[in-house]
Amino acid sequence: MPLTCADILTQTPQGLYCPPGGFHIDPLRPVARALITHGHADHARAGHGAVMATAETLGIMGVRYGAEFAGATQTAPLREPMRVGDVTVRFVPAGHVLGSAQIVIESGGCRVVISGDYKRAADPTCEPFEPVPCDVFITEATFGLPVFRHPDVRAEVRKLLDSVALFPERAHVVGVYALGKAQRLMALIREAGYAAPIYIHGALERLTDFYQANGVTLGDVRRVAPSERGALAGAVVLCPPSAIQEVWSRRFPDPVTCFASGWMRVRARARQKGVELPLVISDHADWDALCATIRETGASEVWVTHGQEDALVHWCGTQGIQAQPLHLLGYGDEEVEPGPDDPSSPTREEA
Ligand SMILES: [Zn+2]
Ligand SMILES: [Zn+2]
Repeated sequence: MPLTCADILTQTPQGLYCPPGGFHIDPLRPVARALITHGHADHARAGHGAVMATAETLGIMGVRYGAEFAGATQTAPLREPMRVGDVTVRFVPAGHVLGSAQIVIESGGCRVVISGDYKRAADPTCEPFEPVPCDVFITEATFGLPVFRHPDVRAEVRKLLDSVALFPERAHVVGVYALGKAQRLMALIREAGYAAPIYIHGALERLTDFYQANGVTLGDVRRVAPSERGALAGAVVLCPPSAIQEVWSRRFPDPVTCFASGWMRVRARARQKGVELPLVISDHADWDALCATIRETGASEVWVTHGQEDALVHWCGTQGIQAQPLHLLGYGDEEVEPGPDDPSSPTREEA
């Protein structure tokens, strides 16, 4: 009997599971065989028996967890169909961070696409999202409310650089997530014509080195030495979000506290974190992009996970698309900070 879409993918306590393929996708706990969409800590965990992912995602996992992060690894070249168990899988760019991919599973004439996290806005540090026509589309919904409409990132970067020009005696200390946001912001700053060195906290160094080693051009990036902080008037300094509230950032000359995140759209969040200059820069699709993407896939069925599921499920209903929330626990978004056992964790850095 041919498999139906319901046979291809099910939910288990470990996360999404493909029984005919014998693998989990982005499992939350160690499993025998995992396919991983991208390197953020809530999707890519250490300790699986075997991991299949793009070369960049495997590299990022190696940077974060050490070379022994899985029993065995297999590189998934982008767009190339591969047989896994009784299904065919394919990794297709998701436009979220370097190496991020949607996972396409096909069997018996049914095609399921697991988006992982994705965005449609331009990002010079990774390949753009490619829509894949499918029967079932599993979408994230981090910003799945109509109030979330991300502004043009170039205007946000302009705000930062205008402030740098206006206050040459102050340092601009920008909180950014270590994987993706840090490197994208640096690339956008370069695109805007800023050529001076960009300074980074030590916790951002290894992933930034990894991006540069993988051909992402970021210009002159320097790790801040503790002794030079007082001398960095006029500089742009990137650090993990937690560091903007720590003593570490107060040693810079009259620091302007900035934070680059989609959540900066919510004023209360910026105020709560003591952010003077919020920059609305997100690596997730906003409401319009979520809706447009669902339409583009032509999916007749949508599963919504990872955030604000209900509004998007309702919207699908108005479009005649069958939809259900997945309520998978354990996923955050790029805003998840590495745990204390993560070698790139800011808590291991000097104050
Ligand atoms: Zn995520
Ligand atoms: Zn992510």
